[in-house]
Amino acid sequence: MTPSPSEIIELAAGLRGRGGAGFPTATKLASVRRAAAPRTVVANGEEGEPGSLKDRWLLRERPELVLEGLRLAAVAIEADRSVVYFSDQAAEQSVIRLAPPTVEIIRVAPRYVAGEETSIVRVLDGGPALPLAKPPRPYEQGVLVLNVESLARLARRAAGESDPPLLATLTGGGRPATLHEVHPGTTLRALTEAHTPDPVRGVLAGGLFGGFLTTLDVEVSHDGLAAAGSALGCGAFRVLGPDDCPVAVAAAALDYLAGQSAQQCGACIRGTDALSATVAALRAGTATAADLDLLATRASRLPGRGACGLPDAAARLATSLLTVFPAVVRRHLIPGCEACRLPVDLHATSTSAPPQPARRLDQHTTSTSAPPQPARHLDQHTTPTSPPPRPARDLDQHAIEGVRA
Ligand code: SF4
Repeated sequence: MTPSPSEIIELAAGLRGRGGAGFPTATKLASVRRAAAPRTVVANGEEGEPGSLKDRWLLRERPELVLEGLRLAAVAIEADRSVVYFSDQAAEQSVIRLAPPTVEIIRVAPRYVAGEETSIVRVLDGGPALPLAKPPRPYEQGVLVLNVESLARLARRAAGESDPPLLATLTGGGRPATLHEVHPGTTLRALTEAHTPDPVRGVLAGGLFGGFLTTLDVEVSHDGLAAAGSALGCGAFRVLGPDDCPVAVAAAALDYLAGQSAQQCGACIRGTDALSATVAALRAGTATAADLDLLATRASRLPGRGACGLPDAAARLATSLLTVFPAVVRRHLIPGCEACRLPVDLHATSTSAPPQPARRLDQHTTSTSAPPQPARHLDQHTTPTSPPPRPARDLDQHAIEGVRA
């Protein structure tokens, strides 16, 4: 039996968004429910963070969970329109196969800012997948955008799991990307040990949003990462192995962010470019001490000055490089870092093969945490009856070049 709208909002209590910002799901549901009709609910599977695989994995391998969460969210807000939004070409058939005819499927060109909720609103209105200034936020205007993992967790709650695990992607450390189910109490140390047996000098946390972190004895949760001065974000961690230089990783990440700027906001265009150029010079061994002072000043002034979170991510990255690795940074004032010459790949690339199945980490819970929960496998959930396949509404006006994170 389908729960009532208020029961579904209650069911979402304590769940936080898994797209990056971690906004409380129940608050969003209740806010959109209060908005005037028409109301729209969007399952957001556009995974802009280059080191994240989880949303593609869910859409390809567990679309029934995403669609069940979307159905529940639609009931909760009495939606007039339900949409699945993503860029992953390989996910298209699995979503189409299970989506009821009432669910619209929109595939866009992959881009860092395409999954930002205001970009989605623009696409729904027939525009480009580019962010708009906030406020108002979409959920204040009758558009509920929930990340596909948020919806999958809502579906798991409805199926009886009180605390469904998070999904985390690990890249770097000289290893292929790995995807993990993370149960409460799991530490970052346990997670990195499950990714690589090699020593780990730190991580770039929260996709590109959480900055560098060298303390690994923190719980992998919104609160745990925030208490350590970082952020869980989308649950993507770029591991720094023995051969990784933090300056090279930061330079590659800032170069990526500068290249992904939608070129709409002056502060973002100039500010993100400037941070990227300075850290690139540091990587090349041509930066001066004065450049580092300017880097710190610019990074402190950039947050909050763009329509989306891209410049904030760039600023946090640059600031954390300076504060977490000060000695390493100073050593780069003269050329000679061999590790900086190596290429850095930030992408959790998956070409033809699907991402690895999630690995359960509940055996790694810390001694202070609650006892490990019994495993519930994702495939215990009921699969809705499949309607006949139908074509996706493909909004991609540019060629999609393979699968990109
Ligand atoms: S902050 Fe940057 S990426 Fe975001 S909308 Fe403005 S120009 Fe585009």
